[in-house]
Order: sequence, then structure tokens, then C-alpha cells
Amino acid sequence: MPFPSDVPEAELIARLRACLPPAPPGFAGHGDDCARVAAPVPGRELLLKSDPLVEGVHFLADQQPERVGRKAAARVLSDLAAAGGDPRWILVNLQIPGTCPLDWLEAAYAALGDCAARHGAAVVGGDVGCATRLAFHVFGVGDVPVGQGLTRRGARAGDRLCVTGPLGGSLRSGHHLDFTPRLAEGRALRGLASACLDLSDGLARDLRQLCTASSVGARVWAGRLPFTAAARAGGDPLSSALRDGEDYELLFTVPTDRLKALRAAWPSECVPWVEIGEMLPAAAGLWLRGPGGGDQPLSEGGNDALARGAPCG
Ligand SMILES: [Mg+2]
Repeated sequence: MPFPSDVPEAELIARLRACLPPAPPGFAGHGDDCARVAAPVPGRELLLKSDPLVEGVHFLADQQPERVGRKAAARVLSDLAAAGGDPRWILVNLQIPGTCPLDWLEAAYAALGDCAARHGAAVVGGDVGCATRLAFHVFGVGDVPVGQGLTRRGARAGDRLCVTGPLGGSLRSGHHLDFTPRLAEGRALRGLASACLDLSDGLARDLRQLCTASSVGARVWAGRLPFTAAARAGGDPLSSALRDGEDYELLFTVPTDRLKALRAAWPSECVPWVEIGEMLPAAAGLWLRGPGGGDQPLSEGGNDALARGAPCG
């Protein structure tokens, strides 16, 4: 079984490139110093995002390469979705330990390229290097009509808090490897949502980020939270939905006078969204309203990317 270190770098790059879908028209780059791509048309602005996928942190060494490669692309695509963007280009810096079989890497890379292509993006370059653990450092470029990109900053007191799907149990169910980036939903929110992010660190923690960015407070309605089957199976679906992380659903806010328009305009191919709370003035803070009424402070827990102790499975 060959390892990447058994072949010259140029051959390794050529083999990885061969795993990808055909290059898009007007593109030049693989094997050159830089990728060269068409500039966005007038009236669009660029979205740039980088995201690491590291063995032992975001995936385990015994997981299937197809699922790992998929996740490497999907995490960046999910961030572009949260900005309301259309994905265009992806670059990948691969850090490869000597123990990683070449055919494992090729299978992962093919899945990464497939996932990108399915959502409108092409892998146009990157680099390879040695490391003590496997990592995919993925760089995504997308674009969005000028002024219509979604951010975390626009929520106002009185807006509704909404989510695109059920939450919790992602590590237990494997959803964190197999989720669908909510790109169509992000596009549908352009011009209607006041703020948006993708849920990676758990609802409680990510909502706090959105509230801080927008200078607002919030109240989550526990009785309206949608739970996954895995969250229910874990025995404490509410805590799971608030704190597990890696849901990759969109959390967004909508002014109440736009809710009707959003419902009317929501494309049939998009997953349904649900209202799960309301935004409050900043001084009110963050609250959880229990299923039977009564508020308690919304405690965080959640998945802190810099403090997480155990690798996810
Ligand atoms: Mg994000």
C-alpha cells in the first residue's frame, strides 16, 4: 500500500487532482503557483472563509475517508450558507502524516471535490505538506449580491429567532459528518433575515455570539425547539439541543413584519424553518422559557473550539 511520502510531490498532486470533477471553464491553476479564476460579475461582493478539519478534533482516524472529505468541504460551505452566499472556489492545504495511506487520501479528496461540486464550487488549488496529524485546511470563496450578505450583526429587539432544522446529538448520530450545508436556505434568507449564523458550537453558545454581535438579548422557547432523534435517544433532548454542537443548521432572526413574506417566498426545495424564540433588548440578557412557562438564564455549555477536551466521533 503506497503512502504519500512514497511518491514525488508533483505525482501526489496529480493523483489528488485526478480525484476531482473536471475543471470549470475559464479556470487555470492546478500545478501552477496560483489558481486563476474569473472575477465575480459587477454587483456581487466576495465572501472568504477558511476552516480547519483536524484528525482527533473534527474526525477520528478510523472514520471513512468519504465522510471525512465531505465534512472538510461542507463545513466551509455551511459558513458561506450562513452569509447567504453562492460558493465558487475552494483551496485545500493538506497536512499529511507519513502513516496515512495514499488510497485513503484519494478517497477523501474525491468526496471533498464531489461535495463542493454538488453545491456549485470547484476545488481549484492548494498545497500539500508533512505533519504529525492529518489536517485539511480548507479555504472557501463565494459571492453574494452587494448589500445582501447575511451577518450576525443585524438582529433587533422584537425580531423572531428561527432555525432551519432539529438540533442535538450530532456526534452520537454521525450528523456532524453527513450534514447538508443549508445553501438554498441561506439564499432564501437574503433581504429578509436580519442576522444569521450556522450552528457549530451549540445553540446556547452560538446564540450568545449572535446577541453580542447585534447588541441584543434573547429568549429561547424550549417548548418550540425541534429535537433530532439522537437528541431524544440521549435522554435529555433539551440540553442536547442547546449544547451539543455541530448541528450545522442556520440560526437566524427575522423582523416580525417580514415573517409572512419569508413564509410566502420560502422555496419548496428548502427545509422548513421554525420559530424558537424572540430577541430582547441587550439589557434583558439571555433566557430560556421552559415548556410549562417560567424563565431561567440560558447557560452555555456548548462546544468551544479552543477548549474542547475530547475528540468528536
Ligand atoms: Mg460558522
